Amino acid sequence: MIISVASGKGGTGKTLVATSLALSLKDIDRVQLLDCDVEEPNGHVLLKPIITRSEAVSIPVPKVDETKCTYCGKCAEICAYNAIAVFKEKVLIFPQLCHGCGACSYLCPEKAISEAANEIGVVESGYSNSVEFAHGRLAIGEAMAPPIIRQVKDRANHQRTVIIDVPPGTSCPVVEAVKDSDFCILVTEPTPFGLNDLVLAVETVRQLSIPCGVILNRTGVGDGKVEEYCRKEDIPILLTIPLETEIARLYSRGTTLVEGIPQWKESFLGLFDKIREIVDERSRGTER
Ligand code: SF4
Ligand code: SF4
Repeated sequence: MIISVASGKGGTGKTLVATSLALSLKDIDRVQLLDCDVEEPNGHVLLKPIITRSEAVSIPVPKVDETKCTYCGKCAEICAYNAIAVFKEKVLIFPQLCHGCGACSYLCPEKAISEAANEIGVVESGYSNSVEFAHGRLAIGEAMAPPIIRQVKDRANHQRTVIIDVPPGTSCPVVEAVKDSDFCILVTEPTPFGLNDLVLAVETVRQLSIPCGVILNRTGVGDGKVEEYCRKEDIPILLTIPLETEIARLYSRGTTLVEGIPQWKESFLGLFDKIREIVDERSRGTER
């Protein structure tokens, strides 16, 4: 089973949930945590894995041989990402915008375009006790997160329960990280900002036909609008985590919730049971 942990906005406690769920499950199940928040991975800060493998991630970017180029402009026309500009006697490539799709080199009538590898980041993998771990890191100045996310997800071990820490937001990297999940946990807080971003996140996972449930973090502040929305939309609230100084203190010291306060383990195991029930019920429904 693949469970992704997402949130419409950053700083809601997504990594706190992903790491504590992984550590709670490790004694009863084989678990893997994939940190796909490649712009700012911090699962390793809490899990402290031993990294045993590190692999560079590159995408092919075009290189133009101007001795063959006729400046016809076809490559710029075909590029959906504006990564090529053709002038009267010059072709400019913007590697940070290039998605490495290969369309320009394929369609160049003069075969003037070859491809060169552009390193955009790294994928590291290893273990934190019995939790298998992998994360990606996007290189500074690079903007293309999805290829690294795909590489992290390629390391999914389907013999294990896979937990994916998703980047915040609702854009392409989120879709790349969440797609193919059996269930998506949406972590939010009971504030107007939390509700606004939750609504967007729910729309995204519904577009992908992935069942979801909410974890309300830092309860005790804000209003009851998130609960009201969840009731109206028939979205289960799977767990609530109160706003407590001790929880914040643990997180700021790089300690997971279930290691710092072991009583939380039962709550996370209960969370997993609820998710499994929803996923099983759904698969029975699709079999009928
Ligand atoms: S399509 Fe090929 S020939 Fe035309 S401008 Fe681009 S590189 Fe030059
Ligand atoms: S490889 Fe694709 S994205 Fe990159 S410049 Fe060519 S057409 Fe654009």
